[in-house]
Amino acid sequence: MRSSEPRSGFVIPRRRTASSRRLTLGAALGLALAAGGCGSGHASSASSTPAPAVSAPAPAVTTAASTTATTTTTTTTSHRTAPRRIAHVARPAGPLRGKVVVIDPGHNGGNAAAPDAINHMVPAGGFMKACDTTGTATDAGYSEAEFNFDVALRVAAILRREGARVVLTRSSNDGIGPCVSERAAIGNRAHADAAISIHADGAPASGQGFHVIEPALVAGYNDAIIAASARLGGIVRDEMATGSGLVPSTYLGHDGIDVRGDLGGLNLSAVPKVFLESGNMRNPHDAGLQTDPAWRERLAHVIAAALTLYVTGPARS
Ligand code: ZN
Repeated sequence: MRSSEPRSGFVIPRRRTASSRRLTLGAALGLALAAGGCGSGHASSASSTPAPAVSAPAPAVTTAASTTATTTTTTTTSHRTAPRRIAHVARPAGPLRGKVVVIDPGHNGGNAAAPDAINHMVPAGGFMKACDTTGTATDAGYSEAEFNFDVALRVAAILRREGARVVLTRSSNDGIGPCVSERAAIGNRAHADAAISIHADGAPASGQGFHVIEPALVAGYNDAIIAASARLGGIVRDEMATGSGLVPSTYLGHDGIDVRGDLGGLNLSAVPKVFLESGNMRNPHDAGLQTDPAWRERLAHVIAAALTLYVTGPARS
């Protein structure tokens, strides 16, 4: 939702940057049932990584044995054999091995019941802003916070299967926050190759479609990520336009892209980052998609495809 988030008042149309390389969307759009429940982690650094690479079994044997040399024979034996087994564990394969992606599901299910915490003012990039907002909902009551979290788990599962390290900014949908400043800090601490905030909008019902929010330059704060974030945003826009079933927003932005300088989550980011508004929850067409689990899985594949294209693309500035 963006309606409760004050705008900076300027919109900079950006020319289309078609991504020439495209994942096999036929595969990406396969509506396999989600394995979305595995996005576990911890509140402030919710992450789970594939098993770390085991690259040097021999030194590991030496270290383990030497530290337990005075223990029983049984213990020594177990240390002698264990590393051999570890040595046969496959390294995480996949095109995203070594890549770090931060996924930020906007809002949180407990925000509405915690106005004092949510309205607490935090730095947002040269100004102060409320910690977080409640988000929107469909007319039937399906909340944006729940939608965002569900989609984030699905994206995380897909990227982890491809070998990425994925960090979520929250680990459930029944908590509060974190604040927008902390959401940015989580991406920064993770040294993410890319970060994305997943949202859905709450605009007048007559408008429909998705839009990507790219950071406007806020001098002294996000200078280093503007170009890279624009490239990321262009890829996300292109993938959404061709694969999601949502049209580029009919009511906001230009060609599916909006540029804003009033979002703390973008102003304070030191890593390439965009927001995705995944349709308008007040529009019957968009809400019909958003409340369909199969479509959310399709959306997750589109987002994952875009992130994959970005992090495996040309060297980033
Ligand atoms: Zn939102």
